[in-house]
Amino acid sequence: ITISVLKERPNENRVALSPTVVSKLVKSDYQVLIEQGAGSRAFYRDEAYTDAGAKVVDRETAVKDATIIATIDQPDDAVIDQMQAGQALLGLLAPLTDLDFVKKLAAKKITALAFELLPRTVSRAQTMDVLSSQASVAGYKAALLAADSFARYFPMMITAAGTAKPAKVLVLGTGVAGLQAIGTAKRLGAMVSGYDIRPASRGEVESLGATFLTTSVSATGEGGYARQLTKEETEQQQAELASFIAQNNVIITTAQVPGRRPPLLVTQKSVDEAKPGTLFIDLAASDLGGNVAGSQPGTTVTTDSDAQIVGAGDMASQLPASASDMYAKNVQAVITDLTTDGALVFDVDDEVVGDLLVTTDGEIISNRLRSAMD
Ligand code: NAD
Repeated sequence: ITISVLKERPNENRVALSPTVVSKLVKSDYQVLIEQGAGSRAFYRDEAYTDAGAKVVDRETAVKDATIIATIDQPDDAVIDQMQAGQALLGLLAPLTDLDFVKKLAAKKITALAFELLPRTVSRAQTMDVLSSQASVAGYKAALLAADSFARYFPMMITAAGTAKPAKVLVLGTGVAGLQAIGTAKRLGAMVSGYDIRPASRGEVESLGATFLTTSVSATGEGGYARQLTKEETEQQQAELASFIAQNNVIITTAQVPGRRPPLLVTQKSVDEAKPGTLFIDLAASDLGGNVAGSQPGTTVTTDSDAQIVGAGDMASQLPASASDMYAKNVQAVITDLTTDGALVFDVDDEVVGDLLVTTDGEIISNRLRSAMD
């Protein structure tokens, strides 16, 4: 079995395999091909991969000789064009939001596995859970970015020149990223509260020593995820959140609903009414929109009310070495799981593999994707 790793697009700093994981795979009789320079933005040099037992090759060879290509983001069109029927592709392929890409994979008869479709609550899948490993990195980095960008101290400071009050940090959406942001902001000395639409989140927030806030709207969907709210519920929630937002200095938002535009939690009115110097860090910022009105992916916007909105959808890529280490472990777990007698076996009836699979033999076989298409 040959696993290939390509250099990602220019705005992506992570790499799908680390030298440590390569060395483990090579010891387990896999061959690993790394495109020249693939790890450079995560500070993994070609020599480190060679020392670990990989071959460093050009892109064309890496694609041509792959049994499976492990990637972070969707590879570009030229790679898909070069791939042959029966080759496999594993990564964050955005199947729920980019159906055209899925159709292209099916037309090429590529066997595609998307980490976004992994079942989150099956214990065997935990070591494969890229969404969790990368969200955890993102939440940590978001809290650091908040502390760095905020115009005041995070901790209480008692000095001869007076006392500084601790920053009040509110985290909206307390899944994996939100909990990590809470823990990190607490360690930096801020006063932290958290809010989530899923009531089950209360215990996790409180166990970190933060205050859990609730609104009159609550909702739990399938697989542990939140569901999309109705228009009325959304308006009710936004109105109740406005007063929480006005009482805090730093608002970190992480709310997602799989395959949908992220919910708008902070309205334009809430942004306009925020105190000068209020800092919004929007981890959900994307081309589809974010949790904060006016947030732009990859950009910091200063509003007329002197609030700052940081569009921070790429936080995991901003801590590329740690994020890649964890991602690589998740890739290793999937590939090991797929391997039987020296070959990759894609069992559509398996509760984990069957969910991960998007396309095989020219068909779109993902049930979640099919129901989203209806
Ligand atoms: P996510 O990234 O999909 O969303 C982030 C958070 O936003 C979630 O907590 C969600 O409830 C919240 N959210 C969505 N819409 C909202 C709204 N309108 N208002 C407020 N909050 C909103 O979530 P995630 O971090 O990927 O976690 C998804 C689920 O998977 C959670 O239930 C988590 O506990 C679970 N999980 C389980 C395991 C496990 O059992 N091993 C591992 C990881 C995650």
